[in-house]
Amino acid sequence: MKDGQWWDESWSPISGCTPVSEGCRFCWAKRMSKRLKGRYGYPADDPFKVTFHPDKVNGPLRWRKPRRIFVCSMSDFNHPDVEWNWQYKIIETMFVNPDHTYMVLTKRPEGFGKRLDDIYFHIGRNYGLNWDSGKAENYPFPLKNLWLGVTAENQQRADERIPILLQIPAAVRFVSFEPLLSRIKAAKYAPKLDWAIIGCESGAGRRQTDVDWIIDLKDTFVVYDKPVFIKQAEIAGKLIKMPKIDGREWNEYPKG
Ligand code: SF4
Repeated sequence: MKDGQWWDESWSPISGCTPVSEGCRFCWAKRMSKRLKGRYGYPADDPFKVTFHPDKVNGPLRWRKPRRIFVCSMSDFNHPDVEWNWQYKIIETMFVNPDHTYMVLTKRPEGFGKRLDDIYFHIGRNYGLNWDSGKAENYPFPLKNLWLGVTAENQQRADERIPILLQIPAAVRFVSFEPLLSRIKAAKYAPKLDWAIIGCESGAGRRQTDVDWIIDLKDTFVVYDKPVFIKQAEIAGKLIKMPKIDGREWNEYPKG
């Protein structure tokens, strides 16, 4: 875990995106893409254009020890411009490198379940795995090493995205409440989710997150014995990574 982050490594075989909701205002990926423009496959004319980086598809092979990997931190994995075959290749990499844990976070869960299903079917077929051939117990899908999450920055986005996430079969389903822009009531979702990540916005011009909103959400998940990761909070005007809240840091993970 690096510097208060919830992943060990990030892996970005896709870059580029377009804003979709309030949480996108200070998009970190957009700022980084501008810095990289004209280099490392980031288009010089439009560095934040949705772009596939085939040279990065096998990136996780480099890491021998098992890692928790944030997939497509420079994009939204389910952006409408992301092509089926890009997603296929990325998920195939996860399938053939099962020692790592892959965390996919999207603000666009619509249609993702169907897309995943279709990709799983094709990987299964290409690797001779067939649910119907009496090998159901060995059928590896949904992948156990793929954790799916949505971002919910306010109540509206929580109510739009979490119900869709809950319909998608996944080993672990999580929500990133970051940047947390208002109080969110999540009691109806918490029992069905596996993990909550909570944090305020960072950087210049950041919008305020009341610490009470963070504590409220944390308590909502703790009641159901769900792991909570509190990444950062602004306390007495100061941004603190991995803050102590209720006397301790919150750096819990699902068992997976
Ligand atoms: S969805 Fe994510 S990557 Fe895309 S613009 Fe919004 S914050 Fe940036």
